[in-house]
Amino acid sequence: MNVNIDQMIRVAIYLRLSKDDGDFSLSENGKTESNSIHNQRELLMSFLQSHPEMELVGEYKDDGYTGTNFDRPDFQKMIQDIQKGLINCVIVKDLSRFGRDYIECGRYIEKLFPQLGVRFIAVNDHFDTASGNQSDSIVVPFKNLINDSYSRDISIKVRSNLAVKRNKGEFIGNFTVYGYVKDPENKNHLLIDEYAASIVRNIFRWKLEGFSPVSIADKLNKAGILSPMEYKKAKGSRYETSFKKSALAEWSHVAVRRILKNEIYTGVMLQGKRTTPNYKTKTEIRKAESEWARKEGTHEPIVSKAEFDLVQRLLREDTRAGTPSAPVHPLCGKLLCGKCGEPVVRKSTTSGGRLYAYYLCKSYGSKKSGCASRRFGEDKLHGLVLAVIKQEIDVLLDMEKALKSYKDASWEESEMKKIDTNIAMQEEIIRKNNDLRMGVYEDFQAGILSREEYAEYRADFTVRIDTAREAIRQLLAEKSEIQDSLGNQKNWLEQFHAYVGIKELDRRYVVALIDRIYLFDDGSIEIVFRHKNQKERILNFIREQEAARKRKPLVLVPTVEVV
Ligand SMILES: [Zn+2]
Repeated sequence: MNVNIDQMIRVAIYLRLSKDDGDFSLSENGKTESNSIHNQRELLMSFLQSHPEMELVGEYKDDGYTGTNFDRPDFQKMIQDIQKGLINCVIVKDLSRFGRDYIECGRYIEKLFPQLGVRFIAVNDHFDTASGNQSDSIVVPFKNLINDSYSRDISIKVRSNLAVKRNKGEFIGNFTVYGYVKDPENKNHLLIDEYAASIVRNIFRWKLEGFSPVSIADKLNKAGILSPMEYKKAKGSRYETSFKKSALAEWSHVAVRRILKNEIYTGVMLQGKRTTPNYKTKTEIRKAESEWARKEGTHEPIVSKAEFDLVQRLLREDTRAGTPSAPVHPLCGKLLCGKCGEPVVRKSTTSGGRLYAYYLCKSYGSKKSGCASRRFGEDKLHGLVLAVIKQEIDVLLDMEKALKSYKDASWEESEMKKIDTNIAMQEEIIRKNNDLRMGVYEDFQAGILSREEYAEYRADFTVRIDTAREAIRQLLAEKSEIQDSLGNQKNWLEQFHAYVGIKELDRRYVVALIDRIYLFDDGSIEIVFRHKNQKERILNFIREQEAARKRKPLVLVPTVEVV
C-alpha cells in the first residue's frame, strides 16, 4: 500500500474556555475541568468520527484563559508543533474558541497557517480553509465575522440555550399539541388536557380497529367534535369563535394522520425538528430525525408505546384505505403465494344469496406461473391463521415459563453483558492501535522508520481500527435491536399474555404478530412471525441454560403444519 504522508490530515484539536465563561466543575480525578471543555471535546470527536481521513495527533487545551490574546500555554505549544511539522490541520468548535481578537485571528488563519500548509476548520461556523478556492475567500468571512460578531454571538447563545432546554426535554414551543396543555406552574412542562386526550385515545383505538384516517376524520366530523384548530380557537380568549357553521375547519385525514404519527402522545418530547441554517436566514429546514432532541418520559403518555408502534405499522401496511365505513380485511397485504411468491388476491362471489370470499394467487391464469387454481375460502383461512397464532402463543408462554425457572439469569441481561464486554474489547483495540499509529509516526519523524515502513505500519493499524469500528457499529445495532423489541418491558414475553384466549381473527393481532403468510397448493399455510429473530435468541439462551444444566434440551419449536 502506498500512502503519501503529505496527503495525510494530521489533526490538532484546540479547546479553550476563559474563566469568565464560568461553568467549572470537579472531575473525578479532583481537577477542575469545565463542562464546556468537555462539550467542545465531544463535538470535535464526533466531527472526527465522521471524517475517517483525519487522524488525531494531539489535543491542546487552555482552560481558564481569555481569548483576547494568544498568550496561552497550550496554544503556543500547538504553534510550535505546527512549526515542527507534526500537525497540518487545526480544528476548533468555533472561531471564538481560537481567539476573540479577530484581527489577530486573521493573521494566523490568513497568513501563518497558509504559509505552513495548515488547514483550519471551525466546526460550528462551517468554516474550512480547504473549501475556499481563492485566497481572498478567507478574508471575506473574516471581515464579516468582525462586523457580525456581536449579533452572531447573541444568536448562538439564544440557540444553544434553547438546545439545552430541548435536550432536557423541556417544552419550548409557543403552542402545545392537541391533547396537552402547558402546566400553569411550569411553562416548560406539559399536562394532559382530559377532553382532547380522550379524542386522541379514540383516534388511536379506531385506527387499531382497522379504520383509515379518512374514515376516522369522517366519524369525528359526524359526531360534531371540534377539529384541533377550532378547539384551540374555542379555548383561547384571543380568538373569536366563528359565526357560521360552514366556516368551521373540519377534521381532515391529514390532521388525523398527524396525530397518529406524533410520538409525543407516548410521553416522549420531540423538538428541534427544524432549524434555520444560521442567524441570517429565517428559512427553516427540516433536520434529520437522528438530530432531533428526544427525551422520554417528560410528560404523562396518552397512548402506550406498544399501541403507538402498532399504529405506525398499520399506517405503513394498510395501503388499501377501505371505504369510510368498512375496516380493512384482517389479512390484507399479508398473503403471498407459496409457489411463485406473488401476492394473493381476495375475490368474492355470491351464491344462494350468500357472499363467498376466497383468496387466489394473483398470477393464476397466466401461462408461465403454473400456479394451481386452489382457492382458499376466507372463513377457513381465518380459522387456520387463528389456530396457528394460538399455537404460537402457547409456545411463547412455555418459553416464558422456562425463563422464569432460571432465577439467576435474565436472558436479556446476559445478552447485553456479552455485547458490552465485546464493545469494550473493540474500544481497547481501537485505543491501542491509535497509540501504535501515533507511535510509528513519531518513529518515522525520528528517522527510526523509513517512509515505506511507516506507510506499511500505518496502513496495517488503520485496517485494524476500521475493523474494530465496524464491529462496534454492528454490536450497537444488535444492542438496540434487543432493547427495541423489549421496549421498557421487564420481560418481552409478557406482551403475549394479551393474546391468550383470542376467539376471532382481528386485524390488530395480525399486524402485531405476523410478517407474512404463504399459501400452498396442497392447502397448507406457512406463517412467518415478526418476532421470529427475538424468539430464536431466547430459544438459544434456553438451550444454553439447559446445556449448562447438563440436561436434555427442551424441545420448544413445534413445526406447525396445518393442512
Ligand atoms: Zn402463485
